[in-house]
Amino acid sequence: MRFAKVAVDLNAQALDRPFTYIIPEGLEIRPGDMVRIPFGHRTIEGFVLETDDETDVDEGKLKPISAKVGDESIILPELLELASFMRQKYLCTMADALRAMIPAQMRMGRVREKSQKEARLILPVEEALALASRAPAQAKIVSALSNGAKLLTELSDIVPAASSACAALAKKGAIEINERMLRRRPPVSDAGRSAFDPELTQDQQNVIASLTDALDTGGRFLLYGVTGSGKTEVYIKLIRMLLEKGRGAIVLVPEIALTPQTVGWFHARFGDLSAVIHSRLSSGERYDEWQRIRRGEARVVIGARSAVFAPVENPGAIIIDEEHEGAYLSEKHPRYDARDIAAERMRLSKGILLLGSATPSISSFMRTMPKIRPENKLTLLEMDKRVLGREMPACELVDMRLELANGNKGIFSGALVKALKDCMTGGKQAMLFINRRGHSTFVNCRACGYVVKCEKCDVTMTYHQNREMLVCHYCASEQRPPEVCPKCKSRFIKYFGAGTQRIEEEAKKLFPDRRVLRMDMDTTAAKDSHADILDAFRRGEADILVGTQMIAKGLDFPNVTLVGVVAADTTLNLPDYRSAERTFQLITQVAGRAGRADSPGRVIIQTYTPEHYALQCALKQDYRAFYHTEVAYRRRSLYPPYTTIARLLFSSEDGECAGKAASECADELRQSFADKRLMQHVLSVQEGQAPIKRLKGEERYEILVKLYTAGEPEAVIGEMENIERKQIDNVRIELEINPANMF
Ligand code: ADP
Ligand code: ZN
Ligand code: ZN
Repeated sequence: MRFAKVAVDLNAQALDRPFTYIIPEGLEIRPGDMVRIPFGHRTIEGFVLETDDETDVDEGKLKPISAKVGDESIILPELLELASFMRQKYLCTMADALRAMIPAQMRMGRVREKSQKEARLILPVEEALALASRAPAQAKIVSALSNGAKLLTELSDIVPAASSACAALAKKGAIEINERMLRRRPPVSDAGRSAFDPELTQDQQNVIASLTDALDTGGRFLLYGVTGSGKTEVYIKLIRMLLEKGRGAIVLVPEIALTPQTVGWFHARFGDLSAVIHSRLSSGERYDEWQRIRRGEARVVIGARSAVFAPVENPGAIIIDEEHEGAYLSEKHPRYDARDIAAERMRLSKGILLLGSATPSISSFMRTMPKIRPENKLTLLEMDKRVLGREMPACELVDMRLELANGNKGIFSGALVKALKDCMTGGKQAMLFINRRGHSTFVNCRACGYVVKCEKCDVTMTYHQNREMLVCHYCASEQRPPEVCPKCKSRFIKYFGAGTQRIEEEAKKLFPDRRVLRMDMDTTAAKDSHADILDAFRRGEADILVGTQMIAKGLDFPNVTLVGVVAADTTLNLPDYRSAERTFQLITQVAGRAGRADSPGRVIIQTYTPEHYALQCALKQDYRAFYHTEVAYRRRSLYPPYTTIARLLFSSEDGECAGKAASECADELRQSFADKRLMQHVLSVQEGQAPIKRLKGEERYEILVKLYTAGEPEAVIGEMENIERKQIDNVRIELEINPANMF
């Protein structure tokens, strides 16, 4: 008799152990199979972890597996190993980890494959026609099939009552009717993409040489390549080498950059050997792409975060493009970092982890430093020039304080207006960029650039219009906005707030005969409008594109020669310890949009704080200088990556309930940290009202835990997740790790 150990697909920590079942005679079961099993009084689903000829459980008590789900194993054996890694690292159940790996539709059999009937001639045409002689409908069908099989639905378009005619022909033995699987392929456009690999530049070849050395043994790399240095061609070459060895590859791209353009790029090169996985696919499309990968029909996967689990057999590389993006962190349990999962998956399959960026995250770049422990080490690969001798765009900072002093109260500086005019007369395109998130805004002196910051926290205070107060989102201290600038006594101190709409209007006023397009959350709400706007701009249907950070990411517009950053200070002054990093990244990325083809690019950055190191370094495109300044600041202020900030937020319409829950949970947390000897990793545990005490009619309390990243952050976060899972009447509990904006 054979036995299977099964992880049951139920949400309960107490059931997080393998249950043994009998494998019925005649049913072939392998590890990774999804099965239906009796559990208590019902039938549920589970994942087979192991199979064996013997068991130490009393056989008399065991029940047999009811059925197998699908023909093939749903989870590859190596992914089973990855799941147990996740279970340990993120303190989730095996079922949680496995569930994260497969499309939701696979479970509970919600999506079925789509098949259709197809008719095919099995006799020579003349003989078939002879058999059909007295029925014109049948004769028509025979001639329709004479140059190949057709679907019944197609035949119905030619002949009315096609299905009964086909049935009759099948009965006479003239044709055969079979089921054909239909693949729901997401649409791809190869438009404007060459199907040929260009000859690699010297920089690209050097990088490939390093990667080639690791092709069989595996390795971890960070590719720091300036914008336009041709990182994608490096990825493509690496994938080609792997395909030759019979291996596959996964390319992760931030969801927002996963445009038809990016997908088309890979499709043009790899054809149907490539598959795409992202959240905008319909559930049917997603399921079918997953199946194509699982069957080995597609071996190059490009997708968003969850594609790190794509069932590619023997993957030789996982490439993570724009690795600095926050998009690689899962926001729900299990809270995994796709970069860590990819690293482990590549360790298991002796493959290459390749992180790529023009602006690597501080934490990844730190891992290329000499003193890093070998298991965390990333090998640095560098491409510091653009391809084909193209110049980096010329950047200029415009001091908006001087503009005001010279009597210009508008949102565009003289320099930007002039550059726009030159660009338009030259028949080129321009992009105007502003980053304005939500309603948070800050108070800024337009005469001297002074910004109101919290005295205790050194982060920008946020202006709350409804209460007319400045609030520190880190420590909740408040103050009235000043009437005159404390530094220069100017009365031009006010809250900052030029949005995309305003910029669009101003641009239209300035260039009434030019076409201006706007791209932000408001204009891209519909499913494909994001792609539509970009396509229209690429086709030259507009001269100026105004947008938020959405226009900054990985887009390649050959005709854009001017990029204007209308207000660099909007990101710089966000109440967030990452604001300098974000600003540096955004400016480098948007600047990278200019001059990507043959005409050189120009970048104009408007700011009230031209002396800030993030802007100075971005201006000179000096990533290393930025890195060193930023790391010193993080170390000094005990900010990530040296520490991790985790926050539990308690909201309730009943303030007393929320407050009580927060303080009880804080005590419980301290106790469990002490019991599990985790306290040495924890810097502080603070509870109290959240910086914004009331939001949308709810009272808010929080527990803020700061911990050393080098310790055991997962163990500490695991305890906090236990709190998050608690069911407390009337109280909603949410956990956030390194929250971007604490309010
Ligand atoms: P990055 O991602 O590093 O910003 P891309 O991969 O988008 O850069 O490449 C920038 C441009 O250079 C693209 O238009 C690409 O087709 C082109 N390119 C890249 N490598 C080469 C090469 N070896 N020869 C010619 N053109 C190249
Ligand atoms: Zn001032
Ligand atoms: Zn403060």
